[in-house]
Amino acid sequence: MNSVFVPDTHLEDHLEQVHARWQALRMSTDLQARSERIQAEMDTDAFDRMMTAASRAKSGGQRVLWLHRAADVVAGAVSRSKASACTKGCDHCCHIPVSVSRAEAAHLAAVSGKRMATAPAHAVRVSQEPDRLQGDGAMKGTSPGRWEHHIGEACPFLSHGECTVWASRPLACRYYYSIDKDNLLCKLLPDKQGIEVPQLNVLAFTAMYWGILGLNQDVADIRDWFPDEA
Ligand code: SF4
Repeated sequence: MNSVFVPDTHLEDHLEQVHARWQALRMSTDLQARSERIQAEMDTDAFDRMMTAASRAKSGGQRVLWLHRAADVVAGAVSRSKASACTKGCDHCCHIPVSVSRAEAAHLAAVSGKRMATAPAHAVRVSQEPDRLQGDGAMKGTSPGRWEHHIGEACPFLSHGECTVWASRPLACRYYYSIDKDNLLCKLLPDKQGIEVPQLNVLAFTAMYWGILGLNQDVADIRDWFPDEA
């Protein structure tokens, strides 16, 4: 079994810690405070400029690049706030479903030289499942029911625990932040159930980027776009 899963031998202890953590989080205002710290660090003018440029871009590739820059503005706020548990070297979220639009898959194929599928398995149009794709929850903004079989599978762009396409990583990766104090809740359970991570609420951002990319985009898990590499 993949090492990103909590070993069966530690499962009972782990579940107790998870339960205690969620109880503590629910009884405190920590998550709200961390969200507010990130918000306070946001350069909203810069973000708006990038999103405006994205919305005026003439091609899908240019839209993706401007949307990446907008997401980098958010990343800067998260970094300055020190309100996220996400750190270099943690790759748990590279083992859960990752929703990628066709425009982003084409960008990844261009920068990596990897061959992308023309008709990826389990693809969906954004317009078919807009609510789920705009941030339904714990799986990088994906539709859990459709791609949950990928839980525990490494992303094809992960190598030795590091993202090989960091500068070009998809928006789903760029907008996925745990706002807990560590990665306890990010650890995957052996039965692939119960993964619930306190995430930064990015609903407004994801709604905007899907709107700009286009609701007619087809979206699939990153492993299905690059099946030769999985
Ligand atoms: S693209 Fe990079 S950051 Fe995103 S899941 Fe893959 S390895 Fe992780």
